[in-house]
Amino acid sequence: MTDDTSVALDSLQAENASLRARMAYLVEQAERNHEIMCRHQQFDLAIVGSSGFPELIGTIFRVLPVISELDAVTLTLVDVDADIRTVMEKLGVDLALFPDLLFAQDADGLRFPHDGAHSPKPIMGRFEHAAHMHAFPSPPQGLASVALVPLMRNKRVIGSLNLGSNDPSRFTPALGTDFIEHMASIIAICLENVISNEMLKYIGLTDSLTGVYNRRYMDRRFMEEIARARRQGYPVSCLYIDLDHFKHVNDSVGHQGGDEVLREVAGRIKDELRLSDALGRFGGEEFVALLIDADLDSALHVAERIRAAVGAAPVTLATGFKVDSTVSIGAATLDLCSKDQAIDACARQLLSQADTALYRAKEGGRNRVVGFSEAVA
Ligand code: GH3
Ligand code: MG
Ligand code: MG
Repeated sequence: MTDDTSVALDSLQAENASLRARMAYLVEQAERNHEIMCRHQQFDLAIVGSSGFPELIGTIFRVLPVISELDAVTLTLVDVDADIRTVMEKLGVDLALFPDLLFAQDADGLRFPHDGAHSPKPIMGRFEHAAHMHAFPSPPQGLASVALVPLMRNKRVIGSLNLGSNDPSRFTPALGTDFIEHMASIIAICLENVISNEMLKYIGLTDSLTGVYNRRYMDRRFMEEIARARRQGYPVSCLYIDLDHFKHVNDSVGHQGGDEVLREVAGRIKDELRLSDALGRFGGEEFVALLIDADLDSALHVAERIRAAVGAAPVTLATGFKVDSTVSIGAATLDLCSKDQAIDACARQLLSQADTALYRAKEGGRNRVVGFSEAVA
């Protein structure tokens, strides 16, 4: 072998080794990308399959940081007039479980730059406390780069997905945004879907005039609460509340004025109840409150507070006209329900005893509270 051939061979071998190394690197990258893609597909399937708001939010916060190797993930929802929060609270969702779920009063609060007719683009780059505080109010130690990705539905910004990394080169202004925009679009569809489902659920459970629960919901709640109270051995009470001479109110201020009075009275009643109690509108001007872990004495006490709160000051209508109103209340408690009675029979009995007591309160001159034991004495 000449020296020349030997040099050429060496160089070929070196090139071969370098190509092999490059190939191994590319295969490794391809495998890694494939693995990331699979993880993301699983994530997509998990969020698409979420049946409700807490499940969806929980999955996003639990899974996304792991599969995307992120040090912080928060989510901001545009929540005009706190509608989403109100509905979730009404449906019993504990938002305190999701400290990384944030709310903005409007889309401007998300601070995406306006770019004429174009949809807002993700904001990517180094983490700056002042500029990104709205997305990361309590940033983890060492947060170095962030991507704030608009969540869009029908050309409207419904929120922002906020991703953070301790690696300063993870999110840079030059980085392509196709992948995270695609991910954000799936999250946005899922969010819109679960939020409208929860809204529908809420509408099916509440009275549209006053925002308190409807009769259908209360019937179900009575059964659940009575069953639980029996198991755990605490008393449950019921207040049947009826506005006095409401026909006169309608006659004097019209049906619309009457509606305003109903809304205000519902609010005053609710203010006297505990969060664990439930208030429903049972008919025209009748409300029923279910008081959890309350015996007849405390139920009478709450009822008296409600009576006083309604009668204390007139309701001022939108026209400025003031309307005095009072309520009569019948109270009953479950103590009298025997343990081997069926739950639905117990519920009916509790309600009918409160109704009997209410009847006595009306007979006795209205604007008063009567307990069932007094009513039958
Ligand atoms: P009482 O003190 O005996 O309860 O007298 P009342 O006039 O309140 O009782 P009654 O049951 O005779 O009348 C209830 C009135 O409530 C009649 C109806 O016009 C009115 N009402 C029922 N539903 C609504 C509603 O959704 N809005 C308004 N504005 N009025 C309603
Ligand atoms: Mg009435
Ligand atoms: Mg009535």
